[in-house]
Amino acid sequence: MAFTTNDATRAAILAQAAQYDSFYLYGATEITQAAQTLQQAFPDVTFLYSLKNNPCNQIATLLFDQGFGTDAASLAEVMQSVAAGVAKEKIQYSAPGKTVRDITAALPHAILVADSISEIARIQEIAAAQGITAQIGIRIHPAFSFDSDAPATPSKFGIEETQAFANFSAWRALPNIEIVGLHVHCRSQSLSVPLLQRYHQKVIDLATRMQRALGYDLSFLNMGAGFGIPYAPSDTPIDLDAIATATHAHLSTFHQRFPSTKIYIETGRYCVGNNGVYVTKVLDKKTCGDTTFVVLANTLNGFIRPSLANMLESACPSPAAAEPLYTAQNAFTILPILQMDTSASVQKETVTLVGNLCTATDLLAKDICLPMLQCGDMIAITNAGSYAAVLSPMQFSQQVAPAQLLLQADGTIISAV
Ligand SMILES: *Cc1c(COP(=O)(O)O)cnc(C)c1O
Repeated sequence: MAFTTNDATRAAILAQAAQYDSFYLYGATEITQAAQTLQQAFPDVTFLYSLKNNPCNQIATLLFDQGFGTDAASLAEVMQSVAAGVAKEKIQYSAPGKTVRDITAALPHAILVADSISEIARIQEIAAAQGITAQIGIRIHPAFSFDSDAPATPSKFGIEETQAFANFSAWRALPNIEIVGLHVHCRSQSLSVPLLQRYHQKVIDLATRMQRALGYDLSFLNMGAGFGIPYAPSDTPIDLDAIATATHAHLSTFHQRFPSTKIYIETGRYCVGNNGVYVTKVLDKKTCGDTTFVVLANTLNGFIRPSLANMLESACPSPAAAEPLYTAQNAFTILPILQMDTSASVQKETVTLVGNLCTATDLLAKDICLPMLQCGDMIAITNAGSYAAVLSPMQFSQQVAPAQLLLQADGTIISAV
């Protein structure tokens, strides 16, 4: 929570509140540091930034500047990466249900990762029409599961492992397609080092079997994402070095057999999730019965996940994680940022934090004890870097949408969009 709690962040929040009633503030220094931490732990891996977690151009640029490619989930994400100057080899476009238009437009610019058997046929047809040989990856839904020895359960993602292996020779005969890569992605937000180690081992083993079955070396293996970040105050960050040591041991044997296969890992939310806050201003305050309501700007519509978590947890006390909409109880910490910071001397009171939408679901926190808030004070919510602005229904009620701002290393603040 270094970004959330440091003095530079606090000063930037207070300064921006003069201009905005609600805004996201992201920390460039911390985002870049997280990227470098990944690269130091995995020097032989190329990382792909999962644009869907936070597609702000200024943030993507920070990561592209570190040498990251793109994990693109749509044609728009492919084209955003092209516009940012990312090389074709480093843009992997993997998503279910790509349309003919998506495939046609993306083929010249990205490495397509086919998500189904019929998509391979579709790509073959389009590549033939374009007069090219498309070098593509395939996403496999492996027979193993991420967190146990049980066989995998059905998934809408990728091609079932047994079906893929049964089709390799048929695909080899396609004139306009060359299968050059394997993509596997099974899990978001894992904080378990042993499971992540085991997952990498299983994916590497699958790639080994696939190359044997195909009879030639792949040019890439994309091991997907999975690295979790701490949300609840009790979560501890994953030990990347421990994962890297185990992964490296498997990769060194793999590299001896398949020296030309490049390894990719998708970053998911890893670099950005903890390094953004959502800030909303106190607009009004009133009591009704024994409850004191603090009315904030753009809560559910500006950052939906805390309100959504309240809804889920009131319906079902310990809901299972449903990424990226719901992670866990206490995933977001609410920090008061008072205009007049008289710290210890500020009196506390129990309040209910609500938003300014005309719906009762717009509830940030019920009966929470905070320093006494006045109109114009701010509430900052942690862990708002990923799946925050992009998931929130900002068109609802036509309120002014929150700004998205980047605090740069030199202390200046620019629009992140
Ligand atoms: C959504 C997605 C990610 C993002 O990972 P998170 O850790 O959930 O942020 C990575 N890879 C693929 C293929 C995805 O679909």
